[in-house]
Amino acid sequence: MRRIASITALAALAQLLAAGTAGAQDKESFTHADTLRGSNTPERAWWDATFYDLHVKVSPADSSIRGRNGITYRVLGPAGEMQIDLQEPLEVDSMVQDGRQLQYRRDGNAFFARLVAPQEEGASKTITVYYHGKPRVALHAPWDGGFIWASDSLGNAWVATANEGLGASVWWPMKDLNADEPDSQRVAITVPDPMINVSNGRLRRTTHNVDRTTTYEWFVSNPINGYNVAVNAGSYAHFSDKFKGEKGTLTLDFWPLKYHLDTARAQFRQVKPMLACFEHWFGPYPWYEDGYKLVEAPHLGMEHQSAVAYGNHYLNGYLGRDLSGTGLGLKWDFIIVHESAHEWWGNNITDKDAADMWIHESFANYAEGIFEECRSGKEAGAQYIIGSRRNIQNDAPIVGHFGVNNEGSGDMYYKGGNMLHTIRQIIGDDEKWRGILRGLNQTFYHQTVTGEQVRDYISEHAGIDLSKVFQQYLTTTDVPVLEYRMVGDSLFYRWTDVVPGFAMPVKVWFSASDSTILRPTQTWQSMALPNGARPELRVDENYYVFTKDASVS
Ligand SMILES: [Zn+2]
Repeated sequence: MRRIASITALAALAQLLAAGTAGAQDKESFTHADTLRGSNTPERAWWDATFYDLHVKVSPADSSIRGRNGITYRVLGPAGEMQIDLQEPLEVDSMVQDGRQLQYRRDGNAFFARLVAPQEEGASKTITVYYHGKPRVALHAPWDGGFIWASDSLGNAWVATANEGLGASVWWPMKDLNADEPDSQRVAITVPDPMINVSNGRLRRTTHNVDRTTTYEWFVSNPINGYNVAVNAGSYAHFSDKFKGEKGTLTLDFWPLKYHLDTARAQFRQVKPMLACFEHWFGPYPWYEDGYKLVEAPHLGMEHQSAVAYGNHYLNGYLGRDLSGTGLGLKWDFIIVHESAHEWWGNNITDKDAADMWIHESFANYAEGIFEECRSGKEAGAQYIIGSRRNIQNDAPIVGHFGVNNEGSGDMYYKGGNMLHTIRQIIGDDEKWRGILRGLNQTFYHQTVTGEQVRDYISEHAGIDLSKVFQQYLTTTDVPVLEYRMVGDSLFYRWTDVVPGFAMPVKVWFSASDSTILRPTQTWQSMALPNGARPELRVDENYYVFTKDASVS
């Protein structure tokens, strides 16, 4: 998730972006706060978060939270002030290191602690931040972000968090920078009885407190990006299963609302074939130690690591609709498939900067087509991806602005997926392509990466320089146009609307049975038309390009 081009959702999102802070599209409008949020500031760069020990008491009665985070870090270099992010209107109560209260200053959504104890390079230190307040409320989750104070249809309190883009610091203090993930994390959430809280990783301990609350202590034993850490508290039922996968036995745990238990048992049968498909194409599920979970949420869904939030109302498609327009998308549950794909694309391999969020969404969109391919064959998978082109806007580049927590165009979904599908055609070897997808997940296992690393890996392992292809689709709004003319027995062709040096090969058909691979550049080239070829040319539809018959003026 996060930006799905249903028309209503996009319209709502556009309004939110216009009003909000997280998604400013205009370069001129970026602020000092955006830089503090989105860049590796000097006050962040000298330390590496290694463990977050998060304890939060959640009070639905007055929509407030109170808690602490013990931030353990390794000192990388000369220390100065320490930036810890916590968004307004939350308040820090104190910061403590080695038993000593620290002074700090606030600059909007960032706090700067003045450390007293020596910070020797290589040392491991802990600072504990105590805080409280009424966190920003998400009104259109998961599109905006914050806390969701809801109730289920029986009137039971139902609380969740969703904060992709906005950032985890909307509800807990941490280094809100994708490039720095802790190696592990505790998530201990205290909720009023009889609520049950389901967070990421595995449940280690349940403690019943005297004030009629219960603390659910979850533990993630792998690196996790901040926006994936989540509260899901409600009146849950629980059932479990096991999946025999590439790395052994993976535990599956499902947390539907109690009154959805039977429905969930039926709908969540889709999980095993989905996992089998994705393991085949992308490699082992990345979090065997933490398990796989689906947790029903009062919002559409989010890829919360090892605890995917599910709110698709147990319908196939995207809220019962097919985003591809082919009918294929109605055969399976979009949220199960798309959000689970993020366990590989986004959670296992995480962008260092939101500007490269295509690493998450282009591959997750492409994974939808892969799932359809696993279900119904290669042709069906291709039709799903091709069908989703109708959602492409070509409004702005897919890659956003770096260093200011800026996401590019929502085209990172459908156009990005079609870019990957096009690249598969260029490579022209499905096993090699599958090896690249698996190799990315193996090479960048549990890492944060730049888009450049991903692009270079694909080029290197394809044995083809794809840099201009990536540049075209990721950084411009122009779709390559194959311009051609037929004169006598000759076909003339070239690329237009492309970046300099763009020379993507493309398959064209002269008849239903007669095709060839052209290697156009921006300069006119020609070839002799095959005997008996009809005077029309069709580009193979698997390539996301436009055509123009230049002999027609
Ligand atoms: Zn997504």
